[in-house]
Amino acid sequence: MHLARFPRVKFAHLPTPLEPLPNLTRLLGGPRLWIKRDDCTGLATGGNKTRKLEFLVADALAKGADTLITQGAVQTNHGRQTAAAAARFGLRCIILLEHRVATEDPDYLRNGNVLLDRLFGAELRELAGGGDMNAAMEPVAEEVRRAGGKPYVIPGGGSNEVGALGYVACALELVHQADEAGLRIDHIVHATGSAGTQAGLLAGLRAMHAGIPVLGIGVRAPKERQEATVHALACRVAERLGVKGGVDRAAVVANCDYVGEGYGIPTPAMVEAVQLFARHEGILLDPVYSGKAAAGLVDLCRKGFFGKDENVLFLHTGGAAGLFAYRSTFERASS
Ligand SMILES: *Cc1c(COP(=O)(O)O)cnc(C)c1O
Repeated sequence: MHLARFPRVKFAHLPTPLEPLPNLTRLLGGPRLWIKRDDCTGLATGGNKTRKLEFLVADALAKGADTLITQGAVQTNHGRQTAAAAARFGLRCIILLEHRVATEDPDYLRNGNVLLDRLFGAELRELAGGGDMNAAMEPVAEEVRRAGGKPYVIPGGGSNEVGALGYVACALELVHQADEAGLRIDHIVHATGSAGTQAGLLAGLRAMHAGIPVLGIGVRAPKERQEATVHALACRVAERLGVKGGVDRAAVVANCDYVGEGYGIPTPAMVEAVQLFARHEGILLDPVYSGKAAAGLVDLCRKGFFGKDENVLFLHTGGAAGLFAYRSTFERASS
């Protein structure tokens, strides 16, 4: 596997730190918890989309694009990082925002990521929830073309075989860090949504024969659908990398027990996990992804799912800008 074969512009702050979580480890009575700080990727308050955008923006520039078009929920972290990358490279950015979460809360609708999207100069277009958002980008691309522009369409979450290369690179980086530190990683746990993160990790780990299992904690889709989406993308990424045999279906594991009522809807366990990381480690999670993933991690630790002497690495995928969209949720919890 030779990642430099693929066009990449480097703007992420890498490698991100791999650190112990001593206080949470003690509090939960094991396993040994570690964190990979992909909330510190350096672009616009960080997050996992930054790694994907290194490959996506390079592809866009190689194709002569002058406009990035993407989509997500109103509080999309992906949109915010795309808007910042576009600003950095002098590209126009159009983001379609789906009203996926039924709320009239002005913080949700205008604060957090939305405030930052606007600050980066992105053009925001709002759509009702429930439509085919990737299809909705086509007429927008056509409109850009008619006006003489060159659009580059990025799917939701930057999750295609180009963007997922960012998480192949992350797999290489984290195994190298662990090897340097003499740290045996027994599990990787992270939030899984549009699937590019898990698919890239799985393809990268498979290419290295690292033998580290990955557990995605779902934030939206049910288990079967999530695993099928991740597997399909992981196989496409493996093919692109020339990894023979692809990624085994059995290696794709998602636990979707921590979604609660739905995407972006807070759960008590998410609020507790966000508070635990904040109060015991001084680390900010987010309400939609890393908070629910951490809720799963904490619950599985309490249930004895991991061996006490195992090393469990939580991949922090970012998103803390979204906390400001959920002010009322956390105010209620702290009062
Ligand atoms: C997008 C996102 C995820 C999910 O990553 P996917 O590659 O879409 O599965 C996790 N955490 C945060 C904070 C995100 O913004």
